[in-house]
Order: sequence, then C-alpha cells, then structure tokens
Amino acid sequence: MENLDKLISINNWFDEPLDTPIYIAGPCSAETEEQVFATASEISKNSKIKIFRAGLWKPRTRPNTFEGVGSKGLAWLKKVKEQFGLRIAVEVANPEHVELCLKNDIDVLWIGARTVSNPFSIQEIAKSLANVKIPILIKNPVNPDLDLWIGAIERFYNNDVYKLAAIHRGFYPFEKTIFRNIPKWEIPIELKIKFPNLPIICDPSHISGTTEYIEEICQKALDLNFDGLMIESHINPKSALSDSQQQLTPNELNQLLTRLIVRESSSSDTEFTDLLSNYRAQIDSLDFQLLELLAQRMKIVEKIGEYKSINNVKILQLRRWENIIGTRTEFGQSRGLTEEFITKLLQLVHKESIQKQTEVMNKNKQL
Ligand code: PEP
Ligand code: MN
Repeated sequence: MENLDKLISINNWFDEPLDTPIYIAGPCSAETEEQVFATASEISKNSKIKIFRAGLWKPRTRPNTFEGVGSKGLAWLKKVKEQFGLRIAVEVANPEHVELCLKNDIDVLWIGARTVSNPFSIQEIAKSLANVKIPILIKNPVNPDLDLWIGAIERFYNNDVYKLAAIHRGFYPFEKTIFRNIPKWEIPIELKIKFPNLPIICDPSHISGTTEYIEEICQKALDLNFDGLMIESHINPKSALSDSQQQLTPNELNQLLTRLIVRESSSSDTEFTDLLSNYRAQIDSLDFQLLELLAQRMKIVEKIGEYKSINNVKILQLRRWENIIGTRTEFGQSRGLTEEFITKLLQLVHKESIQKQTEVMNKNKQL
C-alpha cells in the first residue's frame, strides 16, 4: 500500500488556513434547536474552536433509547454555521446520511467507531464520498484492530478522498478499567509511525467516559504530537440525552483549553524527542499491560496455593517447572528474546509464586 502521499494537511483543508492543533467541540447529540444554539453560542466565544460537532444519528447499544433527532437537526446546524461562523461536523453511518449532509453544507463528516468496524458499511460510505472535497474523520474501530482502522482509511483514500484524519477514541475494555474505552496509545502511535502525514485527532471524551480524565488525556495527546482534539460539550451536561457523564460545559471546556500546554515540535531536536516520547508511551502502555498480566497470574497462583493446601500437595513440582522453562524459552527465543533473559525473568516470577503459595499454606495452617 502506498504511503497515503496525496493526503492534504489540515492547514489546507479549507480556504482560510487552519492552525494545528485543531479543536472540535460540541454536544454528543443535537437534541433541540435551543440546546444546539445555546451550546454553539458559548463555544463560538473561544476563538481556538473552529469546528462544531453534533451527532444527529446516534449509534446506541440498545433500541428505544434516544437515537438522535435525525435530519431535522441539519437546519439547526446550518443556522449555527451562519450565525456563529463555526464549521460543522456530523457523524454519518450510511450513504443517505452523507447525501443529506452534503445537501445541507455540512463541512466535515466523521465515521463512528461502530461503523468503522464494518468494512461493508465503510465501502458504501467511501463510494458515496468519491471525489467529495470535504474532510472525513475516521474513528478507530471498537476493538484494538489497527488493520481494520487502516483498512477504513484506505477505502476512503482509494475513492480519492484526500482530506482525511484519524480519530483516536479508545478501545472497548474487556475488563473493568477507569476508562470507558482503554486508550492503548501504542495503537495510534503505530498508525502515526506507519503514515506520518495522516493527521490524528484525539477524542478524550469517549476514552474517559466521565469528565475526570479528559484533561490528562488531552495533554497526553498533545504531547504525543496529535493534530487536534474533539471534545464533547453541552450547555447543560446533566440533562444530556446521550453521554451525559462525559460532557463538559462550554465554560469548563474554555478553562481546560487555557490550561493545556502545546509544546514545541519544530526544531530537529524536538523531532528527536517527539519520536522518543512516542516510543516511551508505547513502553509505558506495554509495561502496564505486563504488570496487569503478572497480577492476574499471581491471582491464579494464589488459587493454586489454596488448592494444593486443601489437597495436601507440596508447593514445588519439579516436572511442571521444567516444562515451564522449556516451553517458555522456546517461545521467547522464537520472538527474539535471549535464553538468559527468559530464564532470569521466569526464575523471578517462579520465586514470587512460591512465596505466594507459601503464604497461603501458612495462613491455612494457622486456621
Ligand atoms: C460520538 O462521537 O458521539 C460517538 C458516538 O462516538 P464513537 O463512535 O466513538 O462511540
Ligand atoms: Mn458521544
């Protein structure tokens, strides 16, 4: 696959040049004309925010919940555009949505995480956008599948859509985490390394799921040289019909944006440090995953300790240990790790496991 060489940089997306990072903000959903207007009016006071987002067709997990106001919201957004001079971004999930948005002068379209997960839908939407000159933002799929994300981007690119950007909105967590969607920063970073001229925008709202972590996620994205942020903001978040817990008031958003630091990235020196911090972020993410896995392993070790204790079986099982060393060394070596490193690591893990089991046995003895 080519390098996406024909992509047009964000600065040249519109007639007047846009500065990066770009800031996109607005409610999860357009709900009423008043809510859209009140939110846009406040947001337009922040000169950094150039694009107003609002969902009209909402992909909801369960039916019979608020599924968006649909096409009637297009007229409200048109008015926002005229009155406040904001560009408008809307999520589209099929060619019909595309057609309606294009007819109503929507400036930017984004493709939601669920839609990106379905190549058939993406192919249809991409076809309906062939040669269209407006920017298309492509969220990551729900699962941490980089190829599926790249596939969606390529489908648009192959239909001659060159104003493209990716949106990182985190990945569905299979276990409970503090985030609604785990950031797994190593994935957007890998995308950036593969396609250096593909802009990436971070959506901290859907990663965080509450307002609590939005600021730290924004700062991290900027420090990782993301090209923009898309943040949900509602005039009265508590009353929001979707994603009420993660939306900021325009005022909170304002304050947050003033606290964010946009660090330099222009000198050759910072180019080096940028890449270095990209690699370090990957290391950070992987280290936490390693520790998470080790913690899970230890929990099972405790269960084994209990089980052996109840059945009056000794802790050290030499044949099992030999098997562990043999199979893991072979596997690790096939992945480029040295025998010495694997042995040392396993010895350390094994020592801790024995310690854990000893604790369990001692505890049970005292009972
Ligand atoms: C949204 O942006 O409101 C949305 C539905 O996001 P996602 O597709 O990332 O879940
Ligand atoms: Mn939302």
